[in-house]
Amino acid sequence: MQTHTIHPAASSDGHRHYHGKGIVHSIESCGTVDGPGLRFVLFMQGCLMRCLYCHNRDTWDMRTDKAQELSVDEVMKQVISYRHYLRATGGGVTATGGEPLLQYEFIRDWFTACKANDIHTCLDTNGYALHYDHILDDLLDHTDLVMLDLKQVDPEIHKALVGIPNTKTLKFARYLAERNQAARVRYVIVPGYTDDDRSAHLLGEFIGDMENIDTVELLPYHELGAHKWELCGDAYKLTGVRPPPKETVLHIKEILEGYGKNIIY
Ligand code: SF4
Repeated sequence: MQTHTIHPAASSDGHRHYHGKGIVHSIESCGTVDGPGLRFVLFMQGCLMRCLYCHNRDTWDMRTDKAQELSVDEVMKQVISYRHYLRATGGGVTATGGEPLLQYEFIRDWFTACKANDIHTCLDTNGYALHYDHILDDLLDHTDLVMLDLKQVDPEIHKALVGIPNTKTLKFARYLAERNQAARVRYVIVPGYTDDDRSAHLLGEFIGDMENIDTVELLPYHELGAHKWELCGDAYKLTGVRPPPKETVLHIKEILEGYGKNIIY
């Protein structure tokens, strides 16, 4: 695999000018937590959210000396070498990050190549779609499963937790529902921000009628990524916040089951 120092031109809206390559933070060849079965996972550079609990703080910037610039062909060579393992476990590939939608042309091209090889594709996204155009539709047409991180439906708490409003994420969720796109919601249970009954009910009410979403994955907060904040020279603001107790997770599970969704955690 080639490693380059890259300084891509990025536009003010976060997109860079696409020239056939993706800016990749890292690759996990046999991931087990980012979708069904074993997954070949690409962690993309770039994210415009600022989640207080972010466990991939080092993916935020699109410009970085440590990233790799890879073509679809270079990535596919690796994917093809793993495809029997991936298929045997009901797995496939996952694009995550950072936020993969910021490099949606590359993900579209990569997923198109995967589907040509009959490989399951999964998009793990915070829903921060900047453009609703043929590229996004083409990407979604080649996506078997969207895993949508819905961090908080209440706009004020979302802003406090994520640094920006949730308008774009909610719009994306509605768009997926209109398309009847198979999707799973991921909900991080963060003590003091998303672990209360009201927040769980707001989520249930928002997705309750969305037939394209059959499952909600509950992810209890953990501070495993805190050290990356320090490495990036930032203060981790959730120091001292403990993972939610199991009873809290079970209680939220019960609330969301009341809205007709399968819950996994
Ligand atoms: S959306 Fe993901 S990568 Fe971006 S700040 Fe939040 S947790 Fe980190």
